[in-house]
Amino acid sequence: MSAPVLTAVAWPYANGPRHIGHVSGFGVPSDVFSRYMRMSGHRVLMVSGTDEHGTPISVQADKEGLTTRQLADKYNRVIAEDLQGLGLSYDLFTRTTTGNHYKVVQELFLALHRNGYVQAKTQMGAISPSTGRTLPDRYIEGTCPICGYDGARGDQCDNCGNQLDPIDLKNPRSKINGEVPKFVETEHLFLDLPSFAGALGSWLSTRTGWRPNVLRFSENLLGDMRPRAITRDIDWGVPVPLDGWRDQPMKKFYVWFDAVIGYLSASVEWARRSGDADAWKEFWTDPAQAYYFMGKDNIVFHSLIWPSLLLGQNGEGDKGGQPGAFGKLSLPTEVVSSEFLTMSGSKFSTSRGTVIYVRDFLKQFGPDTLRYFISVAGPENQDTDFTWDEFIRRTNFELANEWGNLVNRSISMAHKNVGAIPTPTAPTAADAELKALARNAFDTVGENLRRSRFKAAANEAMRVVGAANKYLSDEEPWKRKDDPQRRDTILHTALQVVSDANTLLTPFLPHSAQKIHEALGGQGVWSSQPEIREVADLDDPSLQYPVLTGDYANDQAKWESVDIEVGRPLDKPSPLFAKLDAELGETGPDWAPIVK
Ligand SMILES: [Zn+2]
Repeated sequence: MSAPVLTAVAWPYANGPRHIGHVSGFGVPSDVFSRYMRMSGHRVLMVSGTDEHGTPISVQADKEGLTTRQLADKYNRVIAEDLQGLGLSYDLFTRTTTGNHYKVVQELFLALHRNGYVQAKTQMGAISPSTGRTLPDRYIEGTCPICGYDGARGDQCDNCGNQLDPIDLKNPRSKINGEVPKFVETEHLFLDLPSFAGALGSWLSTRTGWRPNVLRFSENLLGDMRPRAITRDIDWGVPVPLDGWRDQPMKKFYVWFDAVIGYLSASVEWARRSGDADAWKEFWTDPAQAYYFMGKDNIVFHSLIWPSLLLGQNGEGDKGGQPGAFGKLSLPTEVVSSEFLTMSGSKFSTSRGTVIYVRDFLKQFGPDTLRYFISVAGPENQDTDFTWDEFIRRTNFELANEWGNLVNRSISMAHKNVGAIPTPTAPTAADAELKALARNAFDTVGENLRRSRFKAAANEAMRVVGAANKYLSDEEPWKRKDDPQRRDTILHTALQVVSDANTLLTPFLPHSAQKIHEALGGQGVWSSQPEIREVADLDDPSLQYPVLTGDYANDQAKWESVDIEVGRPLDKPSPLFAKLDAELGETGPDWAPIVK
């Protein structure tokens, strides 16, 4: 039996709608991977949710005239709907403001604390005088003490590149409201990261299959592990379950700390909702494999910090200890990081107006064209510019001309001439060769998907499509009126390869895959889609929220070539992919920023 697979997907931050850069980092790759893993017989648990604590949520709530809870509710729903629209097959997409999440975060913290990996320290911290909240370093600006640049941030100067401490800035001011921050003595809890450096080093040295940039980046940081604050002066977050802390309204866990524990809490919530509260354990212990998907700005949290929390919980850092309430938990099998999708060479930016929101995109173009573009032309290994021209080209030439046309003409000809899947007779070498090419692609495409090489996987699958189109052009079934047996054999071969290619492309194009399954006379669910369910909080039934979930275990799509059934009736097919207006490639749709 294949090992269970945990797909742990980075948590989108709930301070606004997500753009196509976000979903090209964490969203589409994790779903393509999970769908493939399910198709090849693995039990998969794909979890995530919205990350809803921290200062930027409070800042955005003030801006929109909402409470933090209202703002989190608003964007939790917007984001869940967008991810559903893209067809991301989460087993559970939840949020960090649930009673379950609070309990799991506190439980994991207590294990770290008992094992000696948490220390209290007093430090000087910046506070907003008007709210009493911690003013994070990046919300403070002033004059750089090294080069004199006036726009330096509390954490670093973009002019001279030096790392800064906000207390050293001259003329410091809050970027939120311009006030002068107050520096006060404040006590915080710190995670003792240096005591995990040894264990992390040994573990990383066993991670040979990772993308080289992720591994190199992580190993470089190992030499410079310092204690890291896990609390903040803020009223919006998970309370610290220690005497002297839990009742302080302005002391909460730092948002990064609670968010990264979300992988575990979402797994626990999924299990509790499934009726078997221990069902999560199968995905967190040997021989389960755990794959974490994110953009490159998040690597450190997944390759070093989250593993440190797990090691500390397990009692496996330098100070030893005992496993906490969750027992011994597995470290990531692989951290799969994408680079950035950019626009005219820069990151998408809401403030500069250079942003394409998922919702707008889906409304005009639907999910599969975006999923395909991200998979085949996205930022898998390097920063990649999004251009409308490239998007239109991929959609028109690869999806509409190549794939859509192959499906359409094969089924149309069989429908018109036979009305059903035709009977093959006496196959030629060309028939056998094409069928073998499609069958063999299950190994090559599958191996690439297993290793998160999405571009290579999509290209290999499209190679089968290209070969089938060439086969039809060479064999010309439309000219075989005098030899219906040969015509039917050609059409049968083409339909078999359409069926195989449809399976190979299902992880990328699950919506069209369902339609093609039906167009080939299939019934029932080929590849299911996630749905939004309104649920009550498991620990506080007065709270309701939407979760994204689905039943994927009974999908018919399996990672294998299945012989098509001769005689199955075929209807006249409808076109799969509409060709887009090539002029859109110049400027994009009128709702979108102009990208050249
Ligand atoms: Zn400077």
